[in-house]
Amino acid sequence: MKELQKIPIDFYLRGPGKMSAETMDTETPSDGDIFCMELAIDAAELAFQEDEVPVGAVIFSGEKVLAIDHNRVRSRGDPTAHGEMLVLRAAAAAIGDWRLSQCVLYTTKEPCPMCAGACIMARIGRVVIGVGDPAMGCFGGGPHDFSQTKGFHHHPIVLRGVLSQRCLEILRRFFVAKRQPRPPCEGGRTDIGQEI
Ligand SMILES: [Zn+2]
Repeated sequence: MKELQKIPIDFYLRGPGKMSAETMDTETPSDGDIFCMELAIDAAELAFQEDEVPVGAVIFSGEKVLAIDHNRVRSRGDPTAHGEMLVLRAAAAAIGDWRLSQCVLYTTKEPCPMCAGACIMARIGRVVIGVGDPAMGCFGGGPHDFSQTKGFHHHPIVLRGVLSQRCLEILRRFFVAKRQPRPPCEGGRTDIGQEI
């Protein structure tokens, strides 16, 4: 189990590898995509400052930004408090409709099974991803691609690899910092990455 948990950490420390290039979609991000991803990166930086795994998310409606948030699992003690979940809820509340088919979700890291599933259930129109997650990603960069899964009622359009280096850099910086040896009084643990 411990080895499995370390997979994504090693990935982020090693670099984007195939995720940033070989699996990048041919679609070119728009200026709006870049703008919203930069907002998501800013949110990820806030998460970093709050000692959360630095993943940020934004929802854009086509007219305006509806929600910006970041991972808050640690501070809330809530395993569902991923940035994507928080912006999905906030956006639905903002427009008064759980159907987000006119919305675009921007996230600095490829959604996990929970968040990708929530995107499907929310009928989100489009998902724009920074860096892929080969261990837990569920939009084509990891073990599953919910945007292609037969039988699902909805399949969002997915664009990967937008500002991926910057999204990766934040994660790498966070986990490198976490790998610093701790004082003996704290056990000197180096088994980081339990939360991703
Ligand atoms: Zn998630």
